[in-house]
Amino acid sequence: MSQPNSRDQCPCSSGRIYGQCCGPFLSGHAFAPTAPQLMRSRFTAFATGDVEYLRSTWHPDTRPHDLGLDPAVEWLRLIISDTVRGGPFDTYGEVEFVAMYREPSPDKPGSYQRGRQHERSTFEKVEGRWLYVDGVL
Ligand SMILES: [Zn+2]
Repeated sequence: MSQPNSRDQCPCSSGRIYGQCCGPFLSGHAFAPTAPQLMRSRFTAFATGDVEYLRSTWHPDTRPHDLGLDPAVEWLRLIISDTVRGGPFDTYGEVEFVAMYREPSPDKPGSYQRGRQHERSTFEKVEGRWLYVDGVL
């Protein structure tokens, strides 16, 4: 998936248009002010294959060397179910979410199987920027 148009629905399922949601974060015009917004923008980066954004918002202590995204996986929908702190004046936050995706079925060529990733992620604010630290599945 390529970059959405600024008037498209944002891929993070917020119901807002891209230009007023994750767009300014992925384009580098602004930093996500809260941990849930960073979470949303990272989901959008997964959905659009923006490896550079994923790298730049990953804590350097936990960032994997190779951030290989599987291009066959289509990220469909994000549901944030819980948030602990992570507000504009916090330096630590947790976000629990379910991310829905589909990928080509290994058994039936031409068809898809759906999956979901349920994770509780930890975020830290470093020098004024929220960063993803790690998550528990
Ligand atoms: Zn968004």
